[in-house]
Order: sequence, then C-alpha cells, then structure tokens
Amino acid sequence: MNVLVVGGAGYIGSHCVRQLEVAGHTPIVLDNLVKGHKESIPEGVAFHQADLADSSAVVKILKDEAIDIVMHFAAFIEVAESMQDPLKHYENNVAKTISLLQSMREAGVNKFVFSSSCTVLGEEAKPPFTEDMPLRPISAYGQTKADVEVILDYCTKAYGMSAAIFRYFNASGAAEGGVIGEDHDPETHLIPIAIQVALGQREKMLVFGDDYPTPDGTCLRDYVHVDDLSRAHIAAFPQLEETGKLLTYNLGTGTPASVLEIIKAVEEVSGKPIPYDLAPRRAGDVPSAYADSAKAKSDLDWTPKYDTIRSIVESAWAWHQSHPNGYDKA
Ligand code: UDP
Repeated sequence: MNVLVVGGAGYIGSHCVRQLEVAGHTPIVLDNLVKGHKESIPEGVAFHQADLADSSAVVKILKDEAIDIVMHFAAFIEVAESMQDPLKHYENNVAKTISLLQSMREAGVNKFVFSSSCTVLGEEAKPPFTEDMPLRPISAYGQTKADVEVILDYCTKAYGMSAAIFRYFNASGAAEGGVIGEDHDPETHLIPIAIQVALGQREKMLVFGDDYPTPDGTCLRDYVHVDDLSRAHIAAFPQLEETGKLLTYNLGTGTPASVLEIIKAVEEVSGKPIPYDLAPRRAGDVPSAYADSAKAKSDLDWTPKYDTIRSIVESAWAWHQSHPNGYDKA
C-alpha cells in the first residue's frame, strides 16, 4: 500500500514510517517540520514539506503518489499549552484535520488512520480503560482528539470512508539500535526527563505528587513502545477495506508502572542515580490510567513485543545516549 504519513517526521509518525517499510508498504511523509525532524526520515522515503491544511498541495500529493491510506499523526500534544491557548490546539488538531479529510474526499482517498489518546476519557473512568467508555476529556487537547473521533464517526457513515482510531496510553521508547527516538521541545515526559538526569543534563527532577491512592503514592501509567503502537496501526489495514467501517482501539500493555518504578528502571538501565524532589500534584493528572487492550489483541492479533518497563527504557536509553541533544542540535 502507498501510505501517506501525515506528521511522519514526528515521534510516533517517524517510527511508523520505519515499521511500514518493514511490513512491505511504501510510506510517503507529509510534515511541515514545525515539530518534526527531517533527519528522522529514512533515506529513499518520499518527503513533502507542506502543511496538512494546504489543500492544493495535499490533494496533489494524494493523487500523484497514488495514496491508498492516510495515517494522521500531526498534532499539538502539550496538555498544559492546550489549556493556555486552546484555539491553537483546536486550529491545528481539529480544523486542520477537517481540511485533510476534505482533501482526501477531493482526491478520492477513503481510508484513514487516526492517532487519538486515552485522554479522551474522563477522570471518572476507572482503569483498565475499555473502548466503550464515554468521551469526557478534561483538557482542550483531549477534547480536540475526542472531537475528531466524533467527526470520523459521522464521516464514515456519510461518505463511505473507513477509519481506525487508536487511543494511545504513554507512548515511549525508541527504534531498535537507537537510530530515531523522542525529541520534544520542551520535553515534559517522564522517561526522557529521567534520562536527561542520568545523562547529567539536569541536576534532578520533580516527582509530581506522592499522595495518590496507588501502591507507592505516585501515578500509575501504561507505557507502551512506539514500535508496538506502529505495528497495531498497520495490522488494521485489512479491516479498512470495508467501506463505512469505524474501528476504535486502545493501545497499552495493560500493566501499569508508577513514577517511582520508572525512575528506578532508568537508574538500573543507565547505572546512574536519579535524584528527585517531591513536588505538588500536576494539574490534570489522574491517579491511574492503563489500557484494556483485549480488543486490539483479538481483532488485530496484536501483542506488544516490548512487554517490560526495562525493555522500553533500554530502547529509550540507547537513543538518548547516542543522541544526547536530539536530532539536529550541536
Ligand atoms: N511526571 C513526573 N515528573 C516529570 C514528568 C512527569 O512526576 O518530570 C509524572 C506525571 O505527573 C505523570 C507521569 O509522570 O504522573 C507520566 O507523565 P507524562 O508527562 O510522561 O505522561 P502523561 O501521563 O501526562 O501523558
């Protein structure tokens, strides 16, 4: 299949590009490089630097490259930013997605894969999270993902489009061999921050809250490897052959880890101590979030290959150690 990977120079998109190649598909990358890194695109993969809302460029690419499926990873992801500047997130994550869908209609491409998030579920949802729980996001970011999920429901019914929605839990890790990995600016995620401490780039880190109703008092999250996420997406392609189909899957390992467990894993893998200070709870954090991925497992025959925290942290460490300043910074 010819697959247009929108946001293919970003963290999850770039890993998906490589997994598409492994699976024998032809990835074509569309990225405006606002957040993405050109260096992450493998040699020989077609790359178009354009905005997903540039409809004349997108329609031309869809036609010229004979695209069969569009995978959409291009989104702003910072929850705190979404609360300070919700319109920025709505414009990028919702309005531009509508433009992309319109371009697909114009070009006659009707298969769509969308990266959503477990943040579409509300605070009152009790883990493990199943796909049928109501959409009740508590952030503007989560709401933008929920909005697109609803839009896709209508579009699949109205236009005979087929779509697969994947709700990620905590995407983490890096490609085998540390060739590509996570490089966000600013970095807010737990594993890369702990690794920055191990690398001596930060003196210490903060643990946001140790008074949660969890075994060690810190938040529980479901860390799932980016390559495993990518493989699930690709496994859904055959299901998209049926027009009008809407699929929704949670993707996590189902085994949560606490903040302190992650810090310990980074200490073990790096062999360095990770000093930390306890800080107040971070606004918007739920005590515990982990997936029930039974549906992806049974429908897509998907099993995470990285099924331990240690294996995920090892892969992240390989990337950060070999690229301490990310992709392109000296
Ligand atoms: N966290 C932390 N210190 C940090 C970054 C994150 O204690 O410097 C905690 C955060 O409060 C949450 C967990 O680590 O409980 C995972 O946070 P992250 O931002 O990686 O992902 P999220 O679950 O928010 O998507």
